Amino acid sequence: MVRARKYILVKPFSGEPKKSDLKIVEEELPPLKDGEYLCKAVYLSVDPYMRPYMKRYPVGTMMIGSQVAEIVESKNKDFQVGKFVVGSFGWRDYTIGDGKLSENPVIVSPHILPELGDLPSSLGVGALGMPGNTAYFGLLDLCQPKAGETVVVTGAAGAVGCHVGQIAKIKGCTVIGFAGTEAKCKWLKDEMGFDYAFNYKIVNADRALSECAPKGIDCYFDNVGGELSSIIINKMNLHGRIAVCGAISTYNEDISQLPKVSILQPTFVFKQLKMEGFIVNRWNSRWTEGINQNLQWIKEGKLKYRETVTDGFENMFDAFVGMLRGENVGKAIVKA
Ligand code: NDP
Repeated sequence: MVRARKYILVKPFSGEPKKSDLKIVEEELPPLKDGEYLCKAVYLSVDPYMRPYMKRYPVGTMMIGSQVAEIVESKNKDFQVGKFVVGSFGWRDYTIGDGKLSENPVIVSPHILPELGDLPSSLGVGALGMPGNTAYFGLLDLCQPKAGETVVVTGAAGAVGCHVGQIAKIKGCTVIGFAGTEAKCKWLKDEMGFDYAFNYKIVNADRALSECAPKGIDCYFDNVGGELSSIIINKMNLHGRIAVCGAISTYNEDISQLPKVSILQPTFVFKQLKMEGFIVNRWNSRWTEGINQNLQWIKEGKLKYRETVTDGFENMFDAFVGMLRGENVGKAIVKA
């Protein structure tokens, strides 16, 4: 008999999540039936979407999230013991999977982690998982960057942002990033190959962009929203493309009291801009294409990754809030 631990919501988040909003409960898992497997979390992901998405769920719901888990017992030949599975199992340490495809079209079905050679399995929730595919499809399909163009990305030192900037470099673009500390900006320029990086908390973004992108911006990958995004969009070129990936600057805000930002419609009209929001799962049918391409770039040394790892399942909350506060560089994960 296996006892599993899981985090459940005991109070709806208001403002920044509080430790007392969640609690760990235990449950006894039943013996496996035919077709099922038992897996044990190895790396759990903490992601920004968890903050706004949990608004949809009532108290008592398990925290949502994906993980890389090792299969420890199995009655399913497609999910064999010793293999690693990537699944949206939630914040829990032991899970029974049934090997069936997800009935929810916006959730990627649990799947065996591809063979990664010497690379860590944690990449299954990072550069070789959802965040990597968000960068790959969001940038290439929606922004369609061309060599010689200028690409701006916000949230640049995070999991998605640093990946976006590097793909834009692979495509021959000039890349400008915005992130929340001087150290992150230095890392983006020294290690990630960004041409420019600015600390949005202290820089005059309008002036910085005038200086480093005097010919304007062609593509903007928006991870943060708010006034910074309006400043960037106002600097865009004719037929510029904007992929709206996220709006983390708003996630802890009361939706009825969001801050006002500058009006953009005249810029959209005169520059004939195109802006599209997306959820990465729209590319579910091409999921392995993104993973294979990102894996190939990593093996070729063209794409680097970084992880901020928190130790211990019991420290998931700290990792989650730390990520929302900007304490992570690259992908924030928890080692169970
Ligand atoms: P990150 O690894 O980038 O972590 C979040 C980062 O957000 C923090 O490190 C912090 O960095 C930054 N941040 C926090 N508060 C603010 C703020 N007020 N203004 C600007 N930046 C802030 O997370 P991800 O890479 O996983 O996600 C990045 C974005 O992409 C999020 O908006 C997320 O919701 C979105 N996303 C969307 C998907 C989709 O399908 N549409 C899929 C995956 C992610 P800093 O120090 O720079 O402030």
